[in-house]
Amino acid sequence: FLQGKTALVTGSTSGIGLACARALAREGANVVLNGFGDAEAIEAVRTELEGLSGGKALYSAADLTRPDAIEEMMTQAEAHGGVDILVNNAGVQHVAPADQFPVEKWDLILALNLSAVFHTTRLALPGMKAKGWGRIINTASAHSLVASPNKSAYVAAKHGVAGFTKTVALETAQSGVTVNCISPGYVWTPLVENQIPDTMKARGLTREQVMNDVLLAAQPTKQFVTVDQVAALALFLCREEAASITGANLSMDGGWTAQ
Ligand code: NAD
Repeated sequence: FLQGKTALVTGSTSGIGLACARALAREGANVVLNGFGDAEAIEAVRTELEGLSGGKALYSAADLTRPDAIEEMMTQAEAHGGVDILVNNAGVQHVAPADQFPVEKWDLILALNLSAVFHTTRLALPGMKAKGWGRIINTASAHSLVASPNKSAYVAAKHGVAGFTKTVALETAQSGVTVNCISPGYVWTPLVENQIPDTMKARGLTREQVMNDVLLAAQPTKQFVTVDQVAALALFLCREEAASITGANLSMDGGWTAQ
């Protein structure tokens, strides 16, 4: 149902973004991939997506902490047919108490997890408004609604994404563009796996304890969310049946924020 549409998915070389890129391509969308990683592996994904969609897939290596690189990526996407679907998904985490939080990590997380969402959105909106159709889907987090210790930058950025989403949804409410965020709990991806050692160190725990008592402690289902579950919700938001869902923060967190 997305043939002829172009989807830009930031941070799509891995995890949730990659699952979203695949789900969108399966429905026929042209995809602009973005993120870091091994060049050969990324090229393999790019050709895989073209196989899935029967359309085009393009890769942008833009570092989204840099507004000039974002502008370049958006110009590239414009030449690729324009961005009909924007999935703002790239994000990183760093775990440390606020009084020991490295300043450069704070700046990085705010730039990538929050400001990049503003830049891609401001650059994609004119094209979406001109076409009278668009979908902006931001990967927020349960941490857009509640906090956990040692994640000040991430929690601040994700709360910011939730607020930004609502604001732009109101501004675009009569334009055929919807703006929403998806707020997963713990999803099994490299981002989660990579924060285990830091959390072990910060709290003096074993790997097992971090998995069961820290990560899944807040998730009543005691199951990690899967990347395919998140991608399926993103895909639904692109459907015409989802045209009235805008400004929403959709939780997919195994009951975490119900507590
Ligand atoms: P991941 O580490 O698997 O993927 C992150 C992606 O972002 C990768 O493609 C990476 O190359 C890219 N990236 C990193 N720095 C970048 C930069 N400077 N410029 C461009 N791209 C960059 O992580 P994931 O778990 O799939 O996370 C995706 C999103 O989901 C993030 O916004 C994250 O905060 C959010 N999220 C994740 C979880 C979880 O449990 N994994 C839960 C809630 C929200």
